[in-house]
Amino acid sequence: MGRRFAVIAEMRGHQVRQVTWEALGAVAQMAKDEDRVIVLVIGHAIGEAVDALSLPGIHMIVVADNDRYQYYEAETYFAAARTFVDQEKPDIVLLGHTAMGRDLAPMLASHLQSGQISDVISIEVYEGGFAFQRPIYAGKAFETKRFTQASKCWVLTIRPNNFPLGGQAGALLPGAITVPERRFLPEPPPTLRSIVRDVVTKMSGSIDLTEAKIIVSGGRGVKSPDGFKPLQQLALVLNGAVGATRGACDAGYCDYALQIGQTGKVVTPEVYFACGISGSIQHLAGMNQSRVIVAINTDPEAPIFEVADYGIVGDLFEIVPLLTAEFRKLLS
Ligand SMILES: Cc1cc2nc3c(=O)[nH]c(=O)nc-3n(C[C@H](O)[C@H](O)[C@H](O)COP(=O)(O)OP(=O)(O)OC[C@H]3O[C@@H](n4cnc5c(N)ncnc54)[C@H](O)[C@@H]3O)c2cc1C
Repeated sequence: MGRRFAVIAEMRGHQVRQVTWEALGAVAQMAKDEDRVIVLVIGHAIGEAVDALSLPGIHMIVVADNDRYQYYEAETYFAAARTFVDQEKPDIVLLGHTAMGRDLAPMLASHLQSGQISDVISIEVYEGGFAFQRPIYAGKAFETKRFTQASKCWVLTIRPNNFPLGGQAGALLPGAITVPERRFLPEPPPTLRSIVRDVVTKMSGSIDLTEAKIIVSGGRGVKSPDGFKPLQQLALVLNGAVGATRGACDAGYCDYALQIGQTGKVVTPEVYFACGISGSIQHLAGMNQSRVIVAINTDPEAPIFEVADYGIVGDLFEIVPLLTAEFRKLLS
């Protein structure tokens, strides 16, 4: 009998978040023809997302659609996820390593009395099992972990931007099912202690930092809120997002929603522009897994150059507009 892989989808509004497609991509790396892939979608008015996920290779979609699921709330979502795993009895459950996944996954692992491997960035498939690589010590080292008791249901969270998209836009999932079966979870139980009435979202730009392919980040070197303008221009031309150091946030140059680092967001874009950023270990913890790092700094001794693939020693207020003009020409 094959394995049962379960993905707990994450929504942004009525859309499926990219990290969910990436979780399906991770499943595609592990699953064989005899395995089953099940997806749980929790939210409110999520018909469109359920349709988007109804793909060949996904065997079943379990839908928890209720106005009380409109916003993530630990107790309500856990109630749905717990019912789901108890009913479907998966062998491996995958979530994104996001605010929601980091909250929900340990509760599930505890309920299942099993273990959890968090922040997985790659998977090695070997005869009879899997090994999962994850960064430790703020990205200074990596460890490889395996599940030891195959009989348990294990929980994984995967870091956004590290796996190819599964299903629709990327790697095909195994299995011949063309139309997944749909099941519906009952309403959330009435005994819940808290209800989220509203969520006030601080916009950090139209592109989610954790999913952005290109990030243009500014540090204290931008010197003022206006100093972020050239960075915003570059991000606009490259269809990227703007990020920042805690130094820039503390100085009041930008909102904390942009903070990248140990106590901010962890990002893994294809290209990370570090403009006027010294390269503290706390900042590196949030961005040193970026595929290509471009550093612009007036100080040739700045530690950011030790992790940079391309380093430009110079004034960001001269360099960034030049880069913007060149990219605009190239991309027009
Ligand atoms: C517990 C804890 C958690 C923390 N968490 C985080 C975190 O999550 N994220 C984070 O970022 N920090 C974090 N920090 C803060 C961190 O230690 C640093 O203070 C911060 O990252 C420094 O920000 P910076 O690089 O913008 O500023 P600075 O270190 O002041 O660097 C500014 C850089 O700009 C350069 N520069 C100046 N003018 C220009 C110019 N015109 N053109 C180009 N370059 C120029 C300078 O040479 C300098 O290298 C944390 C600290 C602690 C103690």
